[in-house]
Amino acid sequence: MMTKRTYNFYAGPATLPLPALKKAKEELLDFKGTGMSLMEISHRSKEYAAVHTEASNLVRKLMNLPEEYKVLWLQGGASSQFYMVPANLQKDDKTMEYVNTGAWSKKAIKEGKFYGDVNVVASSEDKTFSYIPEDIEFSDDAAFAHITGNNTIYGTEYQQWPEVADEVPLACDMSSHIFDKIIDPKKFGVMYAGAQKNIGPAGVTLVIVREDLLDRVPENTPTMQKWKTHAEKDSLFNTGPCWAIYMCKLSLEYLNGLGGVSAIEKINRKKANMLYDLIDTSVGFYKGHAKKDSRSLMNVTFNLPTPELEAKCVAEGLAKGLVGLKGHRSIGGMRASIYNAMPTEGVQALVDFLKEFQENNQ
Ligand code: PMP
Repeated sequence: MMTKRTYNFYAGPATLPLPALKKAKEELLDFKGTGMSLMEISHRSKEYAAVHTEASNLVRKLMNLPEEYKVLWLQGGASSQFYMVPANLQKDDKTMEYVNTGAWSKKAIKEGKFYGDVNVVASSEDKTFSYIPEDIEFSDDAAFAHITGNNTIYGTEYQQWPEVADEVPLACDMSSHIFDKIIDPKKFGVMYAGAQKNIGPAGVTLVIVREDLLDRVPENTPTMQKWKTHAEKDSLFNTGPCWAIYMCKLSLEYLNGLGGVSAIEKINRKKANMLYDLIDTSVGFYKGHAKKDSRSLMNVTFNLPTPELEAKCVAEGLAKGLVGLKGHRSIGGMRASIYNAMPTEGVQALVDFLKEFQENNQ
C-alpha cells in the first residue's frame, strides 16, 4: 500500500526528504547488520562513529568549510546558542552588538544582556520586521556582532552580509536558512542552526565555530556551555542525540545528491519565485508581508483581504493535503515554509490551489 504523504509547509519541525525517511525505516530494526537499531547502539561504537563523522563531513562539504572551522552537534536548540554565543565570545567587557530583525533576534539580545552591555545597532521593528535594515554598521571594537540570517516568522532574509572589522567575529543564527544558498563561511566566526527546518529532525543543533574563537571563553564557565569542551571531543563529550544526528546525515546525503548547495539554491529560487510571482500578480488579493528586497527564500508570508478568508484558505488547503499554512500569531495571515526538502511539486500544488482559491473568493 502507498503511504500517504502530504505537502508539509510547517515552519519547523518541517518536512524531511522522503529518501531519508525511507532509508531510516529500512535500517530501523537492524542497523548495518548489527541486529540493533541505531537508537540502541553506544555512542562510542564504531557503527555510530561512522555516522557521526559522515554527518560532519557532509556539513563541511556542503558549506565548503575551511579547515579552521569546527563542526559541533549540540543539544538545547538554537535557543541555547543565544546564551552560548555571549558566554563564549564576550571579551574584556566590550559591547556585544546585535541587529534586531524579529522575535528570534530579540530572544538572542535578551540572553546577551545577561553577559554585559548590548548595543542594538539596527532594527526593523518600526515596520513589523518586514525588512532587513540597510547600511548596518558594527563598531570596530565590539566583542562580537550577531544577526539572524532569516526571520522565520516574518519571512525576511539577508541578501548580503553586513561588514565587520577583522577582529569582530560575526555570529549568525542560520536556523531557518542554512544550506539554502551559497555563502562564504569565512565571513562568519560562528554559524548555528537548530536542525529541525533545513538539516534534520528536532533534537540537535549544528554549531560551526572558527577554531581561534574557542579559547576566548572564561575558564570558570560551566563545562557544557563551552564550545571548546565539545570541539575537543568532536561533540562526544557526553551522550549526544545519536538518532537525530543520524537523520541529519541521511538528509544531508539527500541535499548533497541534489548537486550540493549551488544546485539547491537554484531550486530554492525557483520555488520561492513561483509563490512571490503569484502574490505579485494577484492584484492585491495576496499581500506579501516582506518588503520585496528582503524576501526570504524559505518562509513566504502573506495576508488575504480578511482574517475570515485567511482561515478559510488554511482550512481548504488542509483538506487538499497542503498542511501547516497558518501564519505565526504575531503577524497572522499565512506562511508557506519551503525549506530545502520541500519538492518543487509541493510548491506547484500550493500555487495551483491559491490561484483557484482567489478565483472562487474574490
Ligand atoms: N532562531 C530562529 C531563526 C528560529 O526560527 C527558531 C525556531 N523557530 C529558533 C531560533 C529557536 O530554535 P530552537 O527551537 O531550536 O531553540
